[in-house]
Amino acid sequence: MMRGRCLCGAVTWVSGGPVLWAGHCHCDSCRRATGAPFTSFFGVPRAGVTWTGEMSKRLTSNGRVRRLFCKACGTQMAYQSDGWPDETHLYAASLEDPAQFKPEAHYHYAEKLPWVELRDELPRYPGSADATEPLP
Ligand SMILES: [Zn+2]
Ligand SMILES: [Zn+2]
Repeated sequence: MMRGRCLCGAVTWVSGGPVLWAGHCHCDSCRRATGAPFTSFFGVPRAGVTWTGEMSKRLTSNGRVRRLFCKACGTQMAYQSDGWPDETHLYAASLEDPAQFKPEAHYHYAEKLPWVELRDELPRYPGSADATEPLP
């Protein structure tokens, strides 16, 4: 069982998984939403996440992507997209035990910032894993 919470503790989540994928996203919108050079997150079945607390949401202009955050402290808590209607994407940093996170790849590597240096051996997808092949 995985558990997570926001900075202030008003919002919590519980998920029994399974973890569908896990990795680091270097895309510009994750970067700006989280205020960090890249974000580490993972997908779980949407129906299997139990939430407590109040969240606000930001929709993209086309309404297909929702970013959910704690209404009290603003911590980003979840990403949901109509492109993956059965998944919720949760942030590794929100885990009660962030060591549970096991990254498998880098996504949107083409947008990686030049001053981020990585030495891991994980596959590096220029875009999403659905739409691109890992770099050689
Ligand atoms: Zn909070
Ligand atoms: Zn992203």
